[in-house]
Amino acid sequence: MNSPRSVCVLTDAPGTPVCRSLALLYPGRTATLDFSKEPHGAEVLSQYSHVFVHAVRPQNAARLDFAAVRAFVAAGGTAACALAEFAQHHGAQLVKSFVLDGSEEPGIRIRVANDITRGFAVGDVTPWFGKVSHAPLNENNPNQYFQRQILGLREADGIRILGVSTLNGGAVLIEECIGQGRLMALDFRSLIFEPYFNAFGCTNKYLFLGNLFGGSVRYGKHYARKLPYAELRREMQAMAARLPGLTYAEEGTASDGQPLASLSLGQPGQPAFLFTNGIHGWEWEAGYGLLHLAELLAGPQPPEGLDSHRFHLKVVPQLNPFGYDHDTRQNANGVDLNRNFPCAWEDFVSSQDISVPWDFDYKGPAPASEVETRIVQRLIAEMQPRCLLDFHTAHYIFCKAAPGDQALMDAIHADIKERWRDRYVIGRPYATTYEQVGMEASTTYAPAPHLVCYAAAQGVTAPILIEMSGNRTKTQGLVMVTDTTIEICLAALHQCLR
Ligand SMILES: [Zn+2]
Repeated sequence: MNSPRSVCVLTDAPGTPVCRSLALLYPGRTATLDFSKEPHGAEVLSQYSHVFVHAVRPQNAARLDFAAVRAFVAAGGTAACALAEFAQHHGAQLVKSFVLDGSEEPGIRIRVANDITRGFAVGDVTPWFGKVSHAPLNENNPNQYFQRQILGLREADGIRILGVSTLNGGAVLIEECIGQGRLMALDFRSLIFEPYFNAFGCTNKYLFLGNLFGGSVRYGKHYARKLPYAELRREMQAMAARLPGLTYAEEGTASDGQPLASLSLGQPGQPAFLFTNGIHGWEWEAGYGLLHLAELLAGPQPPEGLDSHRFHLKVVPQLNPFGYDHDTRQNANGVDLNRNFPCAWEDFVSSQDISVPWDFDYKGPAPASEVETRIVQRLIAEMQPRCLLDFHTAHYIFCKAAPGDQALMDAIHADIKERWRDRYVIGRPYATTYEQVGMEASTTYAPAPHLVCYAAAQGVTAPILIEMSGNRTKTQGLVMVTDTTIEICLAALHQCLR
């Protein structure tokens, strides 16, 4: 007997990447059933709580007992399938649309905000397409896109169209309530590859499926585009104007002349938290998680009952406005700000070049030579934070600085791992290997001119650098990144306030 939360991949192509990805998403809970060879009546399926239909070979189509899948759903099960099976059952018209001149990337426009589309608001558009070139890793190839849709589908008898094509308004994401359960139909088949970390067609192929099967998205939020820093600042101002309790501040003038903006909330005098992102400007994505964290904590229903009277929080979503705007690591003076702190600065050496501006690790002409560095020093001195989280991008590493409360940091780390379990699957950067999004890797820093090391030397109890997945060109991964970022922040708040 399978566990009640088990997933059956009903397929005629066992061992294909899709089957492997599902097994990564729900390890130990995923079984593969070959519908071209094995019985798969409703009774067999009733052993599982979720069924994912992955039919690949046209010659096997007739062997799939889709009525059994629907009977499984009617009895209270949850299932997902591609558009083809859904269209065939309902006698609906399935089309495959091409954009051969690369003029438009096909997307899904969200029509309904519910648990399946969680992370997106009505009207949001997320990319969803395959590429004719068959070269997802090579962005130099001609951009010829395709996507499938069901045209003319009527919303009746429990059918709701959750997302439509930006090409022709056809249905791309559909929910059907059958009896006690739900079936989701989605254009899985156009996403011919697994979700390469910076895939333009869709970074999170299994996000909607994960939402249906396991509630993947809890706090994530889609943003339509990466805002220029000036616009991001205005967004922060508008958020503070809208939400009582949230304070917008300009902490100084950054090296490029732009005001360095922060948001704070809570009670000065209570345990303080300083969460920063983007000291390496191009590592921008988690900053949107900090932005949304502030929005949620200052909102009418703070997540997990967190009472902002119990803490004092400041978030700096982008510490390096020049690097953020210009997609560089360094600030306007060519300095790697995370090598500029007065902590073992003189001794710092690197395998990278460090001696002249725009060197990868250029540490600056003197310790704390940079205004952004000095602003952070002042914030640490003023706030005396119990916890500092400094977000970066290099694929999921939890980095502790010493001294500091190692047991507390280990508790935060354990909390993050627990929160992230079975939520997302993603490719490793610049590779074609896939894994569940997790924070298994951990390291402890030796003293270095890094922000976290400086914070540790200043007595911050939990000085932590977090490496996330990111450096994407656009916002296609932001629901996942903001979601996982916010979980980290909540873990830190909870563990430090225990
Ligand atoms: Zn970094």
